[in-house]
Amino acid sequence: MSGVRGRALGAYLGLAVGDALGAPVEFMTQAEIRERHGLLREMVGGGWLRLRPGQVTDDTEMSLALGRALLAPGGFELRAVAEAFAAWIRSRPIDVGNTCRQGIRRFMMDGTIKAPPREWHAGNGAAMRILPVVLASLHDPEACRTRSLAQARITHNHPLSDAAVETLAEMTRRLVLGESKPAVRGLVDELVRRSPLFRFDPYPGRASGYIVDTLQTVAHFFFGSEDFETCLVGVVNRGGDADTTGALAGMLAGAACGVDAIPRTWRRTLDPKVAREIETQVEVLLALGASVS
Ligand code: MN
Ligand code: MN
Repeated sequence: MSGVRGRALGAYLGLAVGDALGAPVEFMTQAEIRERHGLLREMVGGGWLRLRPGQVTDDTEMSLALGRALLAPGGFELRAVAEAFAAWIRSRPIDVGNTCRQGIRRFMMDGTIKAPPREWHAGNGAAMRILPVVLASLHDPEACRTRSLAQARITHNHPLSDAAVETLAEMTRRLVLGESKPAVRGLVDELVRRSPLFRFDPYPGRASGYIVDTLQTVAHFFFGSEDFETCLVGVVNRGGDADTTGALAGMLAGAACGVDAIPRTWRRTLDPKVAREIETQVEVLLALGASVS
């Protein structure tokens, strides 16, 4: 499958594949991964969450929850997004990040859809779930930006999270539309000019859940590798927040290379229920995006 559909599906399946590939080594160091797996290149399952091979975690699940809210009649409605996150929390997910949990609990308690600014909100939990919004706003950059930020601030209100959300959303939007990797590099360069903290060349080598570390890791491997597999293998073997760096790198690389570039064994191992929902969501989200302005 080629064209916009192939790249949109590549981004979404890439996100899930990166999550499932990286989750078994989440929170491990590079050295621990090497000792245990050599070079990790298969979805082995296990890890601190005791996953089945191909099982995804909160990164993919929150994206799917967000996508479900967008599929409901009425399109993008922030309260419906928060409700979808609440429904997801009630389903007792295998894993929830602390900031996400706090933000969703706040909404469930007092109904507010915007987190107050907090110093510790510079995690990657808001950025990891932007893709459905991007696909539903593909031809409307301003809607893409404001909706990505609005969904982010349900749980994360921090300028560094905002900056990464904006940049990743616009990069993904343009890649899905067919722009090249060098063409979207300018967006990250612009981010680094505005916030030099995000500088990723030379690569500082940290891959934690801090959004700065996450963006640097994802950008380093995305721009430094030619194909989907090399990019993802490089990212997850750095360890740290490997499922989330894997998910974001998979989203970008999948958008750049298209769905056919995702290795077949990874697609076969990915939880089939997740793959089916992604395929359905991509069709409807793209249709929504086509009808916006
Ligand atoms: Mn996760
Ligand atoms: Mn993670």
